[in-house]
Amino acid sequence: MKITDIKAYPVWVGSRNQLILKIETDAGIHGWGESGLSGRELAVMGAVRHYREFLLGRDPMRIGALWQEMYRSQYFEGGRVLTAAIAAIDIALHDIVGKALGVPVYQLLGGRQRDFVPCFATTGAAMGPQLIEDTQLLISKGWSVIRTGPGHPRSDDPHLWEPRQSIGQTATWLTKLREAVGPDPVLGIDYHHRLSVAETASFCQRMPSGTLDFLEEPIRDETPEAYAALRQMTDVPFAIGEEFSSKWAFLPYIERGLTQFARIDVCNVGGLTEAMKVAGWAEAHYIDLMPHNPLGPICTAATIHLAAAVANFAWLEVRVSPTEELGFYDMDLFPVQPQLQGDRFPVPDTPGLGVEVDEALAAAGEFRFWEAPHLRRADGSVTNW
Ligand SMILES: [Mg+2]
Repeated sequence: MKITDIKAYPVWVGSRNQLILKIETDAGIHGWGESGLSGRELAVMGAVRHYREFLLGRDPMRIGALWQEMYRSQYFEGGRVLTAAIAAIDIALHDIVGKALGVPVYQLLGGRQRDFVPCFATTGAAMGPQLIEDTQLLISKGWSVIRTGPGHPRSDDPHLWEPRQSIGQTATWLTKLREAVGPDPVLGIDYHHRLSVAETASFCQRMPSGTLDFLEEPIRDETPEAYAALRQMTDVPFAIGEEFSSKWAFLPYIERGLTQFARIDVCNVGGLTEAMKVAGWAEAHYIDLMPHNPLGPICTAATIHLAAAVANFAWLEVRVSPTEELGFYDMDLFPVQPQLQGDRFPVPDTPGLGVEVDEALAAAGEFRFWEAPHLRRADGSVTNW
């Protein structure tokens, strides 16, 4: 079998672009992949174009060797743009090999270890009574793992971010939330790397121990030493890694105990090939995967196969629930896609990923330039989204 074409489609779906990738073969088998670098899709398409030049005519069954060649045979290895492109290609190759062998992709990763993939839901409710109502609604619908995001009293200005105005209010309402729902539900918050070390420590100190089960990305992750300092200042488990673009980025966080959940993103880390290596490494340190999954059905399907095949798994992020519908799982564009059942995905038994795309719709789809919000402090200085 030989690769005959690689096509990339950047398509606006819901409120964001999805960069969908198709690999075709001379055996008539095709595979679908997705890249995760939201907001910089055209850069990833450029990388795909470079890789396509030497992948045409190659054997798609040699996934691991092709991964090594894409990563290492260019001198300037790594980086988020290149690994997002490698990820999409690697996922599509797994789809092809699964279809060629007539097995689900998890069978290529060691076989299935669980009957279903548990998920967590997100509520974007502002800090206030709505947060408690949303969480109680989710619990009443069977969800047991619920994540929220940081509150801000000036939510009328979407470009203002003042961390010190957020942490007191957010800690107060998370404390009320825990009192309202009791000790059983798993509660987490994604601070979306908007705090400093000092601000994160103050935030955690404002809540009783046991309020939070995980704190996702309180600070930026370029400096593991900063997380090492923070790790000594709070006992709240951390969930870090959605921006990591290789096993090497995970290395200090796993080996030094800086994260307690691995927020791996298969569409950014380098695909299923790289994700399985991170998973094994995390397993050796008793760290469970809590995969990042904010994209479309291809990312979801690939992550379901990863989740099925690893022993160390917590919950999969899913962006559709009774409190959230972002329109990422379009049924016309993706007529075959994983179907959520309550708070879980069944493990599929069809060959490949279990996703199909209406290619004509993808080709006719619209790409829109999109920027993540450019947040500023009250004094006008730039800060993180
Ligand atoms: Mg996050």
